[in-house]
Amino acid sequence: MYDILKNGAILIGKNFTVDGHYKRLFRAVTHFHSDHLTELEKSLKECTSIIGTPATIEALDVLGYIVPKHKKFPLEYGIEIELSGERIKLEKAEHILGAAQVLIETDETEIAYTGDFREPGKGTKILNPDILIIDATYGNPRLVRQFKQDVDMLFADYVSDELLKRPVKIYGYYGKIQEAMKILRKYGVEAPFLVDNKIEKLTRIFTKYEGDLKNVVSLNTPEGREVLKNNWYVAFEHATQFKKRDKFHANFLLDGWLIDNIIKTLDQNSFVIGMSSHADFEETVYYIDNTSADLIVVDGSRSQYAKDLASYINTHMKKKAVVLPR
Ligand SMILES: [Zn+2]
Repeated sequence: MYDILKNGAILIGKNFTVDGHYKRLFRAVTHFHSDHLTELEKSLKECTSIIGTPATIEALDVLGYIVPKHKKFPLEYGIEIELSGERIKLEKAEHILGAAQVLIETDETEIAYTGDFREPGKGTKILNPDILIIDATYGNPRLVRQFKQDVDMLFADYVSDELLKRPVKIYGYYGKIQEAMKILRKYGVEAPFLVDNKIEKLTRIFTKYEGDLKNVVSLNTPEGREVLKNNWYVAFEHATQFKKRDKFHANFLLDGWLIDNIIKTLDQNSFVIGMSSHADFEETVYYIDNTSADLIVVDGSRSQYAKDLASYINTHMKKKAVVLPR
């Protein structure tokens, strides 16, 4: 009825594979991070449909996956549909643009997979299936973020302070960049956001589905060149470009693995911000504590801390936990 394979495929019911390839009718995609898109090309050939939120399906195009039109299966949050005798529904996960949890009803059993998430009970809806398959990125009890309530505001403060002196560049993974944009606007950063290529296209999808990020300017336009000259802007680049940073900008790398601090100064132009799109250990336990599911399946295909989380649940909580794959 459910399994997790070594290649990351989460099998649910008879007809669904989620976030990894297996030859089944339907491949569901929780969100567009690469560790959840493994072997998507194979699924494009061997599965009948690719199911995801409309934002996720559009983002796949931007990231270079060629999903034939007849295989695209966009499904809005909260809409339950029946496919080949089983029912599937996507529910909101606070993680990145378009991220979803998957809930499948098969043989009168409800099984849910959280995908990646943070803020359970706020942005991430806590689901109540019979069996909950959960992400364990920060599954070790050590991995608690002391400053998680304050990081958003302080990050915006650091950026505002630097903008008084020089332009700012922010480096992050796709999806997280748009979360950073949202936070900066929320806390009053008004400088233009400079973007290009994939980041520009993903930001457009964000605007379409989640709300306008205001004053987002493409680098390759007359307006963009004007903004560059004014030296008052926040530019965004993929995390892999951080090693090519210059001394002209204040450079901020968004890194969820900086746990004990909000900011780490590398040199006078370079800073790491401890900002994560994942629940830390405390939040993960909060989800488990508040779901009515009494069997928790911990995804061990994506996290080295799955066993730690399962043993914590089995020792300290009134629920049973197993790790898959074994
Ligand atoms: Zn992710």
